[in-house]
Amino acid sequence: MLHNDQLEQWDRENFFHPSTHLAEFARGNLPQRVVTGGSGCHIQDRNGNRLLDAFAGLYCVNVGYGRTEIAEAIAEQAHQLAYYHSYVGHGTEASITLAKMILDRAPDHMSKVYFGLSGSDANETNIKLVWYFNNVLGQPAKKKIISRWRGYHGSGLMTGSLTGLDLFHKKFDLPLTQVVHTEAPYYFRRRDLAQSETDFVAHCVAELEALIEREGADTIAAFIGEPALGTGGLVPPPAGYWPAIQAVLQKHDILLIADEVVTGFGRLGTMFGSEHYGIKPDIITIAKGLTSAYAPLSGSIVSDKVWTVLEQGTDQFGSIGHGWTYSAHPIGAAAGVANLKLIDDLDLIGNARDTGAYFKDALVSALGDHPNVGDIRGEGLLCAVEFVEDRADRTFFDPARAVGAKVNAALLNRRVISRAMPQGDILGFAPPFCLTREEADEVVGKLADAVKEVLS
Ligand code: PMP
Repeated sequence: MLHNDQLEQWDRENFFHPSTHLAEFARGNLPQRVVTGGSGCHIQDRNGNRLLDAFAGLYCVNVGYGRTEIAEAIAEQAHQLAYYHSYVGHGTEASITLAKMILDRAPDHMSKVYFGLSGSDANETNIKLVWYFNNVLGQPAKKKIISRWRGYHGSGLMTGSLTGLDLFHKKFDLPLTQVVHTEAPYYFRRRDLAQSETDFVAHCVAELEALIEREGADTIAAFIGEPALGTGGLVPPPAGYWPAIQAVLQKHDILLIADEVVTGFGRLGTMFGSEHYGIKPDIITIAKGLTSAYAPLSGSIVSDKVWTVLEQGTDQFGSIGHGWTYSAHPIGAAAGVANLKLIDDLDLIGNARDTGAYFKDALVSALGDHPNVGDIRGEGLLCAVEFVEDRADRTFFDPARAVGAKVNAALLNRRVISRAMPQGDILGFAPPFCLTREEADEVVGKLADAVKEVLS
C-alpha cells in the first residue's frame, strides 16, 4: 500500500484538479484529501477520518454511499457486456429499461430520453436540439437562449455561458453571444427592488419581458432554469414565479428547458422539481440523481412537442448528427436502473421530504435568531444558511472576509462537510436522502458551534 505522503506528492505533480486554485494547490497550501471509502452519509479518508457528508459529494450521491445493490448491478453488467454503442438503433437491456423507468416517472407530456454522461453535456445536447427544432420549423433566426444570473448549467462552452456566475466566465471569453441573462428569482438579495415576494415576481416578469422586447422574440429559442436555484445560492423560487414566467414564454413561443440535474429524482421531496413548482417543460435535463453518481450518466428528456419536430427533421435531413461514443453506456444504465429501484424500495423521496422538513426546522431553532443569520431556506433536502453582517438592514459581509468559507472550514474541523456556495456567504446542505434525524441533529449542533467560533 502506498504511503499517503507519496500519493499526495504524485497528486500535486500529476493531477489537474477541476475548480481548484492550481498554484496554491501546487504549493501545497490547499488541503488534500484522499478519499477511500463511504457508507450511508459518511465518507472516510486515508488518514482515518470519518466525515458526515452533508453535501452528498456534489449533491449527487442521493441514495448514500456503499450501496451494494448498485455495485452488484454494475459488476454484473460489466461481466456480461461492459460496452456496446447506442447508434442507429442499438441498445442494451439496461439502457432500454432505464429509458422506460425515467419516462414512467417524468411528467406525462414527456416522450423520449437521450442519454449523455454529465449535466454539462446534456445541456449542450439540449441547446443543439432547440436550434435543430427551430431550423426544422423554418425559423433559423430563433436561436438565442435566455438563462438567469446565478443559474448553473455546466462548464462547457455553451453551458458555461448559460451559467450565470462570474467565476465560470472569467478569462474564458464567455459567455458566447447567443446567451442572454435575466434576473435570478432570489428575493432575499433583491428586496430593495420590491416590497413583497409578489412584487418581486412581477419585477422578474417585467425584466424578462423587457429582455425579450429588446432582443426580439423571433431571435429567442429557449429559456433555461433550475426549478430551485442550485450552485447560485440554493434558493427556492418565490411563490408564483414559475407560472408567471411560463406565461411569458408561451406568449412569445419560447421553449422551456428545466435543468433538473440537482432537483431530479427526489432532492426536493418530489420526483421532479417541475412537479413541485407546476412547471411544464419542453426539455428536462437529468444527471446526478439518475445514478446517484455510482456511474456517470445524464439525460435529456424531450417532450412530445419537441420529439415530433425532431422526427420530422430526420425525414427531411437524414439521421440526426448528434451522439457520443458513451451515450447510454450500459454500466451507467445498469447503475441507473438499480438506483431508481432503490429509491422506490426504500421510499427515499419520502425520507428526503420528511427529514428535510425536520432538518430545516432544526436549523431555524438553532440559528434562526442569530444576528448574523439572514436567511434559512430550503425545500426537501436542499437547504442553505445565508450569513449577513447586519440582519436588520440586511447588509452583507465584505466578500474579502470570507465568512461563509470560514464557517464551512470550522464545520469541517468538526467532521461535517457542507459547501460554501460561490458569490455570497451561503452555506449549502444537500445530504444523501438516507439522512437520519440523529445525523440531522449532529449537523445542526456542530454548525451552531462552528458559527459561534467564527461569528462571536
Ligand atoms: N446543471 C445543474 C443544475 C448543475 O447543478 C450541474 C452540476 N452541478 C450541471 C448542470 C452540470 O453537471 P456536470 O457537472 O455533471 O457537468
